[in-house]
Amino acid sequence: MRFDVLTLFPEIITNYCDVSIMKRAKESDVFSLNTVNPRDYTLDKHKKVDDTPYGGGAGMVLMAQPYVDAYEAVEKLENSITVMLTPQGEPLTEQLVLSLAKYNQIIMLCGHYEGFDERIRDIIKPKEISIGDFVLTGGELPALCLIDAVSRKIEGTLGKIVSAEEDSFSNGLLEYPQYTKPRDYRGYLVPEVLLNGNHKEINKYRYEQQIERTKAKRPDLYQAFFDRNSQK
Ligand code: SAM
Repeated sequence: MRFDVLTLFPEIITNYCDVSIMKRAKESDVFSLNTVNPRDYTLDKHKKVDDTPYGGGAGMVLMAQPYVDAYEAVEKLENSITVMLTPQGEPLTEQLVLSLAKYNQIIMLCGHYEGFDERIRDIIKPKEISIGDFVLTGGELPALCLIDAVSRKIEGTLGKIVSAEEDSFSNGLLEYPQYTKPRDYRGYLVPEVLLNGNHKEINKYRYEQQIERTKAKRPDLYQAFFDRNSQK
């Protein structure tokens, strides 16, 4: 997998990917990361990338020329997808992450200020993705959410790929409660069933916990899970 990120602030992306699991995954070539700064593509001697909106209004709009030229300079691999991070996009879910992990390359456009000149959309025709119904100052955190979530689906990022399979959402349910040492912390005990080494019982307990938690915390997910299972 290769990630190409168009951003005015490449250090946000590279700094995050230079620690912990992301760093290890990058170093072992699970993915490669390339940042491109549209500011390097401006034709203006002051390296201007934004301007006031036609029709008036607050803030600055990202100009089409530096973004489109920067995008066109990115090498396109076979089986590549281009994503624009925007609050107007399709919400990022585990399902969408799984479908993105099938590509060889994800090119990401990160906005800033008041967002993109509409002609960037018209020309590049990206898939628009949102990380939720709230507005951030820039597309870098959303791009990192996508990079992080997609990398976890690629063999080699996590110690065991099975650990992602047991995460929340992977079977449509939230994860079961997890415990580590000590067995007794301030009187809060690890459930007995986890200590007896009986994996059949442990799996049953965990599955029941997943159902109970999902029902309590995310009734929408529970309903979808219930509907799917009653159709089987
Ligand atoms: N004026 C824009 C609007 O109302 O849709 C918001 C612009 S926002 C301040 C600046 C940039 O942050 C966007 O262009 C986008 O790249 C990114 N961004 C902000 N919130 C986001 C979200 N929820 N999901 C994905 N990207 C987001």
